[in-house]
Amino acid sequence: MTKGTLTRRELRKDDCLLEIRWAGICHSDIHTVNGDWPHDNFPMTPGHEIIGEIVEKGPDVSKFQVGDVVGIGCLVDSCGECGPCQAGEEQYCEDGFTGTYNGKDRYDGSITQGGYSTHVVCREDFLIRIPEKFSNLEDKETAAAATPLLCAGITTYSPLRHWGVKEGSKVGIVGMGGLGHVAVKLAVAMGAEVTVFSHGLSKKDDGLRFGAKNYVATSEDGFDEPFQKHFDLIINTVSAPLDLKPFMEMLNLDGALVLLGLPPADVEVNPRQLVSGRRSLSGSAIGGIQQTQEMIDFCAEHDITADIELVNSDQINDAYERVVNSDVRYRFVIDATTF
Ligand code: NAP
Ligand code: ZN
Repeated sequence: MTKGTLTRRELRKDDCLLEIRWAGICHSDIHTVNGDWPHDNFPMTPGHEIIGEIVEKGPDVSKFQVGDVVGIGCLVDSCGECGPCQAGEEQYCEDGFTGTYNGKDRYDGSITQGGYSTHVVCREDFLIRIPEKFSNLEDKETAAAATPLLCAGITTYSPLRHWGVKEGSKVGIVGMGGLGHVAVKLAVAMGAEVTVFSHGLSKKDDGLRFGAKNYVATSEDGFDEPFQKHFDLIINTVSAPLDLKPFMEMLNLDGALVLLGLPPADVEVNPRQLVSGRRSLSGSAIGGIQQTQEMIDFCAEHDITADIELVNSDQINDAYERVVNSDVRYRFVIDATTF
């Protein structure tokens, strides 16, 4: 990755210009940069976990003021008219949502560019109001640590809510990286009994500190035996291909295995595993704007942020390598003043 100059669009009537303060590194950025999800939009600027301050606004902007601290997640526009958009689920827009980067602007057809940058322009309807608790931009413990919530937070909060996780629900989280560690904290805050499935035990102490009841190494033979027909919901956040069969067997009656990780590979399940126990295999994409606001407000109420490592703009390539090697505790956040 190299540095360059990016020109942001002139403000449209309902646009805000943000000075970016923090930008998270999501594994999706790495899939995109590495061409795991083929595209021909290079050169491109990744980044869809953004917190910054509004420094200018268009004449029709009514919800925000200059000086407000706001966030941007994975989407910056959608058609606004289809069923999912009307239901506040813009991530499932029938016309395709506009991604924060590598998306196609609905008005001028240009390719959107993400948050590894000093500034960004966004429609006000796609901005998230950052709760007061997280809004001191110079505070690494709060503002920087809240930044990953804009993708890792909403992507895990949405299925936890959709599948009705509540007090006493039995939830498994597979993979304790950026998404996974936030998922543990969220599920615990919702009252669930959480079990982490990680490929080793090196992060066990952290998992228990985040509130998990059990921490299991999938590298050990028979790791699944104590949990047969145990879980109401298992969320798979692993970024690499994974054998789903042992996880299907750990689902209780009506249990669901939900895929969040997006390795470029097909998955295999045996229909018998679904039929016996009316189990389901599903997937979930990020979350809508309204639910993203709900999620970050929930996190402020429950004191949930990501555990982060701060990096400057010269360290991004190294950070990518460490994410791919599962060697990050647990999300890299870039100090955007170093661009
Ligand atoms: P991450 O921080 O790299 O975490 C992924 C975790 O997967 C690792 O910490 C590791 O957990 C596990 N893992 C990695 N390689 C593995 C391997 N070869 N075998 C077994 N386990 C392995 O990534 P992330 O940012 O959380 O993103 C996770 C995935 O979700 C990515 O594919 C990303 O593109 C996708 N994603 C999807 C959505 C959506 O809307 N559905 C949104 C954002 C991201 P352990 O060390 O604990 O085993
Ligand atoms: Zn992401």
